[in-house]
Amino acid sequence: MKHLNLMMKSILDFVIKPVVAASLSSLALIIVLVFLIHPVYPLVAENQVFKKSEFVLTGDIFEQEPALQTLNDSASLELTYKPVAAYEAAEPTLLLPRLDKEGLPKWEQSLVDQLDFLTSPLLGATITTRDSQLPGAPRAYRNGTHQGLDYYDGFCGIRIRFGDPVYAAGDGVIYRIDHEYSELDASARREILDTAQNLEDTPEDILDKLRGRQVWIKHDYGVMTRYAHLYQVADNVEIGDPVKTGYLIGTIGNSGTGDGARGNRLNPHLHFEIWLGEYYLGQGLTPPEVRHLWQEVLD
Ligand SMILES: [Zn+2]
Repeated sequence: MKHLNLMMKSILDFVIKPVVAASLSSLALIIVLVFLIHPVYPLVAENQVFKKSEFVLTGDIFEQEPALQTLNDSASLELTYKPVAAYEAAEPTLLLPRLDKEGLPKWEQSLVDQLDFLTSPLLGATITTRDSQLPGAPRAYRNGTHQGLDYYDGFCGIRIRFGDPVYAAGDGVIYRIDHEYSELDASARREILDTAQNLEDTPEDILDKLRGRQVWIKHDYGVMTRYAHLYQVADNVEIGDPVKTGYLIGTIGNSGTGDGARGNRLNPHLHFEIWLGEYYLGQGLTPPEVRHLWQEVLD
């Protein structure tokens, strides 16, 4: 019996007591940890809220995530989508030439028929008899290509004089009108021509200066007409104004040309362009083909 008591005491001392002690220690540790962590947790959470609201107040989030901001806000949703709808309403399908296998525009009869609303910008004028005055003619002096049709005295069926009226070639809206214009002097013009000579093609900014004082009109289907080398533009016409066929928009001059730079009134002519997207009317055609196409559209 005594032996059994000793054995039980041994078990109690060496097995149960340490287990109970360890359990109690663990429990105490857990309780201490819970008390330690608990006050920290809400502090961290509050801190996060504080930081977030501070972040929102800076306005950064509105700039970085406009989509998130507009999703739940019907007013801004309306503002976001209104211009898109208006743009689509004002811009129906663009009139563009189809392209052949080599990527060149095809000037098909159906396209010509749709350009029927255009007419000559000069009363009674015909398409030039000179190939060098047609769209597509090479322009060696600026290492480029002529993108429009020239109306010069003696080649287009009517007299062309400095100050003669230029009319809108079709109904449309004024897209550009150079009320403010200053002519390049001869040396500045020489400089940009030298730049063009050294490049493979005439850059658009140089081409724009060489066209002188201009009016651009945007017509149905995005078709654009450009009137260049003008002497004057109509005082009473502004960007966005609607114009009808035959509306006086300016007068013939020689701005942007060598004579314009020299300050004389020699060689006045109208340079007239028709654009369908990135293609000028007749792009890629031979001179007889271009002449025929332009006659069909304007005459
Ligand atoms: Zn020209």
